[in-house]
Amino acid sequence: MGRALVRSPLPERPQIHLISLPLAWELESTQVYLIESDPLTLVDTGVQSKASLAALESALDELGYGVADVERVILTHGHRDHFGLVETLRERGAQLECWVHEADAPMVEDFERVVRARLEGAFELFREAGATEEVLARIEGDRFHDLDQNLAEGRATHVDRALREGDRVEWKDFSFRVLHSPGHTPGHLLLEDDEAGLLFTGDQVMGQVVPRAETFYSALLPDPADPLRRRPRFKGLVELRRSLRRLRGRSDKWLLPGFGGLVRRADRTIRDTILYYDVRLQRIERSLRHLAALDQEVTAFELRTALFPPEASLERIRSQILLVIGALDCLEEDRLITTRRREDGVLTHRHR
Ligand SMILES: [Zn+2]
Repeated sequence: MGRALVRSPLPERPQIHLISLPLAWELESTQVYLIESDPLTLVDTGVQSKASLAALESALDELGYGVADVERVILTHGHRDHFGLVETLRERGAQLECWVHEADAPMVEDFERVVRARLEGAFELFREAGATEEVLARIEGDRFHDLDQNLAEGRATHVDRALREGDRVEWKDFSFRVLHSPGHTPGHLLLEDDEAGLLFTGDQVMGQVVPRAETFYSALLPDPADPLRRRPRFKGLVELRRSLRRLRGRSDKWLLPGFGGLVRRADRTIRDTILYYDVRLQRIERSLRHLAALDQEVTAFELRTALFPPEASLERIRSQILLVIGALDCLEEDRLITTRRREDGVLTHRHR
């Protein structure tokens, strides 16, 4: 692994340092930022792990600080690879405040309960999407492994301030504005430094990778206003599409994401991310239109099988189903499809 610290990569704002922290589940690393001003602030922290803590400690040490000196952590969103180390820093003596958008605060503060609820909800979501018994059994079998991994790398973390759109995060000599940009998570935020032309983008817009959009049930009971009696759900791809469209045409000099280096061309990267999903949405819509011409309706799982080559990895199957569900949410929002519930509870879809 290369060095964790890149000191002052941006002349526009030399107080910002880039620190790369290792992740357990892939060969990649997550990028966090130290803002060397008053208060001494981290944007994100990496997972809760010995390797991640050691890398953070050594980067801080090179700059003449210890973890106990960190006074504030701003989280771009409530994923464990971003907030995992916060409580560890507190245990090591940091009297820090942890700030996160209000919509992601429950995930951070009530981590274990929310993770359990999401894993249970995912099973029901995939059943409703028409996943085969075989795939459902594999998802069920994997649930405890998923739970273990989540609980190893994150834990319930006290939040001191819930942020909202338009709030300002201040230092003694400058301030950043909070933009609420849901999609990857409900409370993903961006930090805008318009004086220096910088935008912290977390996992919402990245170099070389496309953001995943979360999808999960947000309530236990069905929505009484929905004739299909579906449970209310966070529809990440619908939100992501809206958030990305809102960012179109931005003239930031640099994006500072959670993965993939620093990004020079904000506008092009935002456009490419929009295009990535537009292409997939169009492909799914075409397939639905073709099936409607044959007088057929289809489940999300059947669409996945038709659109992707045979796949063995459960992780990939899962992300493909989630992509199709997200696309169907977008097409439903665009009023291009109708949805029906079969007698076995599975949802089927048809192009109008
Ligand atoms: Zn994330």
